[in-house]
This record gives sequence, C-alpha cells and structure tokens, in this order.
Amino acid sequence: MAVGDKIRKEAADRLKKEENFECPDPTTDRKLNTANRKIAVAEYSYGPSDPDAENADFWQEKAEVWGVSPSKAKSRKCGNCRVFDVTPWMQDCIQATSQSDTYIKESGVQSGYCRVHEFTCAATRTCDFWIKGGPMNSEIETEDIEEAREEGEL
Ligand code: SF4
Repeated sequence: MAVGDKIRKEAADRLKKEENFECPDPTTDRKLNTANRKIAVAEYSYGPSDPDAENADFWQEKAEVWGVSPSKAKSRKCGNCRVFDVTPWMQDCIQATSQSDTYIKESGVQSGYCRVHEFTCAATRTCDFWIKGGPMNSEIETEDIEEAREEGEL
C-alpha cells in the first residue's frame, strides 16, 4: 500500500470510530440505491445513460437549464459536484452498489455517493442539481453538507 493510501486509510478508520460513521442505507440496499437512481433520472435528468457517446441533445438541455454554453455544461459532472462524496470511508461503503451499475462496472469510471439524491453515481454523469465545488473528499466537507441539509439548504 502506498504511503498516501495508508494515511488515508488510517484517517478513514479513525473518523469512522470517532464519528460512529455508518454507511447510508442505499449503499447496503441495492434496491433502494436503484430506486433513488431512478428518481434522480426522472426528476433531475441524471445521465447521460452512456457518457462515452456524444450526447449532444443531453448537453444542450443541460446548457439551457443552467444558462451556460454546451461546452461549459459538459464540464459540470458528478466528479466535480459539491455533493459527490468520494471520502475513503464512503468508498468502502459503495463497493457493492458500484458493481450493480453496469456502466460503472464495465467502464471502471470513478464512483461516488450522491449526498442529495442518495445513490451511488458515476463521475462522468451529472444532473440538474449539480453544485460547484466538488467533489467531497474530507471530513470538513462532509460535515458541511450534513449541516446544510439539516438547515434545509439542500
Ligand atoms: S447532485 Fe451532484 S453528485 Fe448528485 S447526481 Fe447530481 S451532479 Fe451527481
């Protein structure tokens, strides 16, 4: 194990212990994860279904939703969304649900946990809810999001 990986693993183990971190239900319940993903697709246009394709219509639609150019829209993906949780402790949680997404499994693209729609999503997709400033990769950011949700900001 590389030194950086070892430090991250130790930090993850420590934080789990200190915060009594528990994996969110959708990370251990594939049906719930799939149901939440379907809601994200239906209500927030999570996609595209095949991120490797051109998807011109998809990105044009996102450009209109966000009021930006299609090329700018294309740069806004889960991978850099504020609520895309890629913390080491969450990575441990989402291993099974990542494998239940055919695209993630076959492409090997990075997966993370969407803290808003509550499902395991792919770094190369996006949704109407995209928020600048991601991904979430530290304890402080995780706490920020939880606090914002409790206060009804998300
Ligand atoms: S809110 Fe962010 S992480 Fe969640 S699906 Fe939308 S773009 Fe992806």
